[in-house]
Amino acid sequence: MPAKVRVRFAPSPTGPLHIGGVRTALYNYLFAKKHNGDFLLRIEDTDQNRFVEGAEEYIIESLNWCGIPYDEGPGKEAGYGPYKQSERAHLYKKYADELIESGNAYYAFDTAEALDAHRKDHEEKGKTFIYNWHNRQKLQNSLSLPKEEVEKKLTAGEEYVIRFKSPEGETLHLEDEIRGGMEIDTNILDDKVLFKSDGMPTYHLANIVDDHLMEITHVIRGEEWLPSLALHVLLYRAFGWDAPKFAHLPLILKPQGKGKLSKRDGDKMGFPVFPLEWKDPKTGEISSGYREENYLPEAVVNMLSFLGWNPGTEQEFFKLDELVQAFELSRVHKSGAKFDPEKTKWFQQHYLQLQSDEKLAEDFQKILDKKSINSEKKYTTTVVSLLKERAVFVNDIWELGSYFFQAPESFDEKAARKVWKDDTAEIIEKLSQIVEKVEPYNVENLQNQIKTWITDNNIGFGKVMQPFRLSLVGAMQGPDVFEIAALIGKEETVKRLNYAKENL
Ligand code: GLU
Repeated sequence: MPAKVRVRFAPSPTGPLHIGGVRTALYNYLFAKKHNGDFLLRIEDTDQNRFVEGAEEYIIESLNWCGIPYDEGPGKEAGYGPYKQSERAHLYKKYADELIESGNAYYAFDTAEALDAHRKDHEEKGKTFIYNWHNRQKLQNSLSLPKEEVEKKLTAGEEYVIRFKSPEGETLHLEDEIRGGMEIDTNILDDKVLFKSDGMPTYHLANIVDDHLMEITHVIRGEEWLPSLALHVLLYRAFGWDAPKFAHLPLILKPQGKGKLSKRDGDKMGFPVFPLEWKDPKTGEISSGYREENYLPEAVVNMLSFLGWNPGTEQEFFKLDELVQAFELSRVHKSGAKFDPEKTKWFQQHYLQLQSDEKLAEDFQKILDKKSINSEKKYTTTVVSLLKERAVFVNDIWELGSYFFQAPESFDEKAARKVWKDDTAEIIEKLSQIVEKVEPYNVENLQNQIKTWITDNNIGFGKVMQPFRLSLVGAMQGPDVFEIAALIGKEETVKRLNYAKENL
C-alpha cells in the first residue's frame, strides 16, 4: 500500500505571508485533500535574526481565513511535533554529526573575514568564489587540516560550521512533478552550510531532517527553491533515506512589466499582496490585505487557484471542494503566472452575488454600525437585495445606496440643472400632497396614484419622475423610484420632497 499522502507548508515567520505563500499553502492543501492526505504546517524559524513578532499568528490566521486550515501543526499535535523548528533545535546536531561520520560533511573554520577576502580576490580576477571540491583543500576545514589540529580547534571551542561535501564530477538526475526530469552537474554545487556553531541548523538541514521525520511524501513549494533541489536530493542520499517527490510551483509575476510580484508591488499598484492587513511591528507601516479590503475568501482562493494551474476545461468558478476534486499537480504550469488584480475583482463580484441577502445584510450592518446608523435587519436586507446586483464589495452598497439611510443634503449639480425646471417646484408640491394621501402606503398604490395623476393632468412622466428621483436620492441613480419611496416611508418621502423644493 502506498504511504498516506502527507504534505507540508513550511513558511519562515519573517513577516506577513505574501499572497504567493498563500498559493503554495493552497496547492498543498488541495493536493492533500484530493488524496485523503494530511496537510501540515511547519514553522521554519531557525534563523533567529529574521524572526518577526506576530508573523506566525498571521500565517495561521491567514490559512484559517482562506478556509484551508492545517491538520497538523502548532497547537494541533499529532505525534510528529513539535512543529516549530526552534522547539526542535536539540534534534539536528546528531544528524549533522552523522553526515560527518559518513564522510558527507566536514567542519569548516574559515572566518567571515577570510571568506570575504577570497570573494574579493576572485572578483578582482573576474571570477566567483565558490566553496566546493575545487578549492576546499586550500581552505580551513577538516578535509584540509591535519586531524590533530581539527581536534584542537574543536576542543578550544573555535567557531566552525558544518558543510556538506558535494560529490565531484557526477551527473545527477532530478525529477520534478511539474517540470519533469533535469540533469545537473554536481561540480557546479557549492558546499552549503548545514549547521552553525551557534547550535542551530541551517534551512537545508532542518528542512530535510524534518520532512523525513514528519514522513512527508510530497514537497510542493515555490520555484525559488528549485536551485536547492540537487542539494536536498543529495542529502537524502547521504542519509540513506527515501526522498519525497518534489513539485516546484511557478513564479507569480507582476501584472505589468517584468519580474516577480514583490511585497512592495501591491500598495504601489493599488491592490493587496497580503491576505490580511499587516502592521509592521517595528515601523508601524501598514500593508493592505484582502480581508480588510472586503474581498471574500472564496474569491481570493479561486483567483489563487488559477495562478499557475487550470482545470483544462472552460470552467472558471470553483469553490474549495470543487478545487479539491479538480486539482492535479500535472496541470500546474511551468511558466510564471501573471497576477491580475482585475480578475480578482471579477471573482469577487461573482461570489458576492452568491451570498444570501441575509448574510450580506449582516456584513453590511457592520459598516452601518461604524457610521452609527441604526437600521432594522429587515429593512437592511431589502435594501441589500435591491442594490447587490451592482455591487462588487459589501461597502459598495453604501456608495450605491446611502440615501436609504440618510437623506441627501446636497444634489448632483449637473442633474439638477437638467431636470429641475421653472415649474418643478409646483409639481413637487402637488406630488408631495398625493404621496401624503396614499393609503395603505406601498409600491403598488404609490405607482397607481402617481401615474393616474400624471396621465389625468397630461404632465409628462419625465417631468415628475426625474425630479422625484433627484429629491429622494440626490442624484439620478438607484433602483425604481416607487420602490425607494415605499421603502424609506411616507414621512421621509414627503420630507425629502419638501427639502428639495426649498433647496433646489
Ligand atoms: N522555509 C522555506 C520558506 O520559507 C520553506 C521552503 C520549502 O518548502 O522547502 O519558503
